[in-house]
Parts: sequence; C-alpha cells; structure tokens
Amino acid sequence: MSDFEITPRNRVMRYPKRAAYDTDTIYPILDEALVCHVGFAIDHQPFVIPTIHARMGDQLLLHGLKGGRMLEHVNAGNPLCVTVTLLDGLVMARTVFNHSMNYRSVVLYGRGATIEDPATKLAALECLTEHVARGRWADARPPTDKELMATTIVAIEIESASAKVRQGPPGDDGEDLEYPVWAGVIPLPVMPQAAETDPKQTVVYPQPDYVRHYRRPGRA
Ligand SMILES: Cc1cc2nc3c(=O)[nH]c(=O)nc-3n(C[C@H](O)[C@H](O)[C@H](O)COP(=O)(O)OP(=O)(O)OC[C@H]3O[C@@H](n4cnc5c(N)ncnc54)[C@H](O)[C@@H]3O)c2cc1C
Repeated sequence: MSDFEITPRNRVMRYPKRAAYDTDTIYPILDEALVCHVGFAIDHQPFVIPTIHARMGDQLLLHGLKGGRMLEHVNAGNPLCVTVTLLDGLVMARTVFNHSMNYRSVVLYGRGATIEDPATKLAALECLTEHVARGRWADARPPTDKELMATTIVAIEIESASAKVRQGPPGDDGEDLEYPVWAGVIPLPVMPQAAETDPKQTVVYPQPDYVRHYRRPGRA
C-alpha cells in the first residue's frame, strides 16, 4: 500500500472522514468501475467525457480512434482530472435533507502520453480488454496491425488522487428518528442479466464462464 500526498488539490474538505488517499482503497475502485469521466479544459471551456479506462500499475489507460479530440488533448500533456463513481445504494432518510447515496468514488489528477511502443501498446490493449471482461483477450481475435494503427492508447501517470466513500444507513438523528416514515437503504449492485447471443452468429457457441457468470472485480 502507498499513499498519495495530501495537497490542496486532492484534500477532501467536505466530510473528510469519508476520504482515503491510499492505493489499497483507490485502486480497487478504479478496477471495479466500467467507466470513468475525463475532465479537461480547452480555452477556458471545461469538457467532461465518459469513456472506458483500465489501470495498468500506477497508470490509467484510455483508448479510442486516432484523431479523437480528448486523446489528442491528453497526448499533448495537458492537465486532466478523471473521476470514477461506483453507486452502491440509495439512502432514504426520514428527512429530505438527509437523503443521500452510498458510493465509492475517486478523483484523480495527472497527465498522459500516447503509448507508441508496439509491445506496450498491445499489453495496454489486453489490460483494457481484460478490465471489461477477464478472459476475453484469450478468446477474441487479436487486433491486426491496421486496427492497432487506427487505435490510440494513452497512459496517464496518476500524480494525485483521493477516494471518498459513504456507506451505511441514513444520518438522521434527534427527534427526526421518531418521524413516521420508512427509512433505510436501497442497495443498487451491478447485476448482469442473462447474456444475449448476437443473432448474426451462425454457429451456437457455448457461453464462456466470464459471460455466464459475469461479475465486476471486487464483487462476489
Ligand atoms: C454518487 C454521488 C452523489 C453525490 N451527491 C452529492 C450531492 O448531491 N451534493 C453534493 O454536494 N455532493 C454530492 N456528492 C459528493 C461530491 O462528490 C463532492 O464530494 C461534494 O460535492 C464536495 O465537493 P467540493 O468540490 O466542495 O469538495 P471538496 O471537499 O472541497 O473537494 C476537494 C478535493 O477533494 C476531492 N474530492 C471531492 N469530492 C470527491 C469525491 N466524491 N471522491 C473523491 N475525491 C473527492 C477532490 O480531489 C477535490 O478537489 C456525491 C458524490 C457521489 C459519488
């Protein structure tokens, strides 16, 4: 485990007791989330773009078609803020004021660059594929040279990060605890449904285990 330095940029001011700065808390949140939001500013205009990510060691990987604005901006070495949110539940308090959500979120800061080395690029693509469904890389057709050429992968060095975690029941107290209404938490786990076979499949292949029993990392 290592800690990110706490600075004015990443110090959680609101509810600091919900904050964590260690990789043991932060990395599993990055690994469980299927999407992140990449924030950056161009000419004082902020943009926040949802996209797929994967963590490779201490770097965050993003990929996309060559020429995309976001990836070009990342490759230029501009400062980025990336957020990841896992929504765990709806917190229904007795008071409107105390309604909340249970969540695990990460805000991280860094700068990125395009991965040019072919072997590292392939390893990064494997990491992205396996992030979505562990086992898929071995089964799917590998990328051709042309497909690799058309794909940009950037690696963001995570300079700074924080996690914020809220879990547990509503925060009502005092006389509000007697208010005559149901209160509690509605859990909202990611629950994959039965996979749907592509109607264009002319052969019926068995569903791999990682399809039939799809789960996110960190989830039983
Ligand atoms: C699902 C969900 C729902 C939320 N709903 C609300 C809401 O309705 N209203 C509301 O005010 N807030 C909500 N929050 C909390 C929100 O993310 C912010 O933490 C909060 O608004 C304080 O923002 P701030 O910039 O004033 O925080 P500050 O504490 O001043 O932020 C300082 C630094 O702390 C870090 N930080 C702040 N928030 C987070 C975070 N969530 N995760 C990781 N690091 C963080 C960042 O590095 C940030 O620069 C929600 C969070 C989640 C995940």
